[in-house]
Amino acid sequence: MASKLEYIWLDGYKPTQSLRSKTKIEKDFSGKLEDCPLWSFDGSSTEQAPGGSSDCILKPVFICADPQRKDGFLVMCEVLSSDGKPHESNGRALIEDDDNDFWFGFEQEYFLWDPETNKPLGFPVNGYPSPQGPYYCSVGANNAFGREIVEEHLDVCLEAGLNVEGINAEVAAGQWEFQIFSKGAKDAGDQIWVARYLLERIGESYGVSINWHCKPLGKLDWNGSGMHANFSNTVLRTAASEETYKKILEAFRPVVKEHIEVYGADNEQRLTGKHETASIHDYSYGVSDRGASIRIPLYTVQKGWSGYLEDRRPNSAADPYKVAARIIKTVKSAL
Ligand code: ADP
Ligand code: MN
Ligand code: MN
Ligand code: MN
Ligand code: MN
Repeated sequence: MASKLEYIWLDGYKPTQSLRSKTKIEKDFSGKLEDCPLWSFDGSSTEQAPGGSSDCILKPVFICADPQRKDGFLVMCEVLSSDGKPHESNGRALIEDDDNDFWFGFEQEYFLWDPETNKPLGFPVNGYPSPQGPYYCSVGANNAFGREIVEEHLDVCLEAGLNVEGINAEVAAGQWEFQIFSKGAKDAGDQIWVARYLLERIGESYGVSINWHCKPLGKLDWNGSGMHANFSNTVLRTAASEETYKKILEAFRPVVKEHIEVYGADNEQRLTGKHETASIHDYSYGVSDRGASIRIPLYTVQKGWSGYLEDRRPNSAADPYKVAARIIKTVKSAL
């Protein structure tokens, strides 16, 4: 039997990398990651290599079923240079979490976008819909736009075995969110990227594109899109100590610039201090505070300072690998 393996990777575009993929046919494929061969692609077509020596290597790192394709699998790959070392575009290779001590829950927000009007679903061709208010967690054709796409995406993700924890309609019209959690930073990143891939591909069949930009409606009075990073390690999960939490939270203060650098393009447009965000220039944390850079969930305090933290600054277009790698580095620096 011939299986279709869709090898997926991230290109070298700056500041925002995009998904690329191509199909490999394998005979009598076991379905296991270790039986996915290395492969290569033309890096000169993806901003990853010069034309004169264009081969880059695809190293499979994550596999799941492709529920939308007969005998199909989705294979997430790291990109290596021709010398076998991680390519500079390879954020996954930066993650120092080999024992999977770090757990991540990403909340991925995005807009469903009409390529013809260049506006979100639900926006009239001329002018604007009613202001924000009724759209968040809404039901009904006046307020919820594109649910058939969102539902199809949820079903396909679950069938693929991705650990989606929930979905909701968001604050702006045509804006939605899904959450994915994993006990392991690399795996959380893999799952977010595969879920993004599936959403993009489902959108194709509806003629709807996915807008990952963090502020696609610019300065208008509409929320932007984030990708809140909820994180914990053994220390955070079992601290039972406000002091330990403060020590870790203070470790983030001197490295605001290093975090913002990997928290997604154009984030200054979103982190304005309005629309449930903190200013990009500040660093703050607080219990239940959705206007802080890092929120301490009430849950964590109620459990006696054992739980997790939510960095609210990463945006919808950020690379979850790079976000996780940076958070791990800062948390480890405090311990
Ligand atoms: P909100 O919208 O209120 O910020 P969500 O329910 O959308 O919250 O997302 C919270 C996320 O936190 C979930 O994805 C969940 O998996 C994650 N989470 C819960 N506990 C932990 C933990 N111990 N470590 C890391 N992430 C966690
Ligand atoms: Mn060719
Ligand atoms: Mn959420
Ligand atoms: Mn949200
Ligand atoms: Mn959140």
